[in-house]
Amino acid sequence: MRTALVTGGNRGIGREVCRALSALGYHVYLGSRDVVVGRRVARAIQSEGDIECVRLDVTSGEDVSALSEHVGENLDVLVNNAGIYNALPFRRLSVDDVRQSCETNMLGPFSLISEFLPKMNRRGQGRIINVSSGYGTFSDRISGPAAYGISKAALNALTVVASQEAEGNVEVNAVCPGWVRTDMGGDGAPRDVSEGADTIVWLATRPADGGRINGQLLRDRKVVQW
Ligand code: NDP
Repeated sequence: MRTALVTGGNRGIGREVCRALSALGYHVYLGSRDVVVGRRVARAIQSEGDIECVRLDVTSGEDVSALSEHVGENLDVLVNNAGIYNALPFRRLSVDDVRQSCETNMLGPFSLISEFLPKMNRRGQGRIINVSSGYGTFSDRISGPAAYGISKAALNALTVVASQEAEGNVEVNAVCPGWVRTDMGGDGAPRDVSEGADTIVWLATRPADGGRINGQLLRDRKVVQW
């Protein structure tokens, strides 16, 4: 059975990615800081494949190591979805704001990629998807929430660097899900969670013979510049 790990799987886009991969028959590790909540969500959305809730605060080295040991060598898909949104503009930011955003949105994915990319390389297959944002793109000089934008641009850079270490049929990419109705996106967002999850699930399940996509940022299944 194919396996997938989704960070921040207990709500929002991550929850929908867990549901969709389970419907495709994956054994899904649903990462959640609160395992009581995570288990309840896992039971509610499980369909074809099992969903197993695993304790995961992406900023905790202990959680990441324990999870890596538990999952073992055979992870097919890693979705770095967990994220926090700091809306402050640059002039009101503290060092701690930037540190906290980067710890969750970039260093968390870095820790998980460091654990699982070597294992995927040894098997010669795997998909890593980092959930990024249009606020992390600067080719059109998009401005906005400063700590969030910095952390997501750093996540895009991490995607490029990690992709250069990907071997065989291993791919590392980033996805902008668009503006999605979740706790983070708010009620006014135009997309529902299935639209937000679409490119993530598509990349996670692309076959080996579909042409290599590696080190890119995608939106709506298309590569975009950042
Ligand atoms: P939500 O706020 O609805 O959910 C965020 C998830 O991340 C929760 O499960 C939360 O867990 C988890 N999380 C936060 N910090 C940590 C941590 N340290 N360790 C583990 N889990 C953590 O957000 P969305 O579903 O909207 O966003 C998912 C991803 O999509 C994020 O990376 C976000 O930046 C990105 N994105 C979202 C957009 C949108 O419009 N919604 C637009 C562009 C990008 P808990 O319940 O414990 O807090």
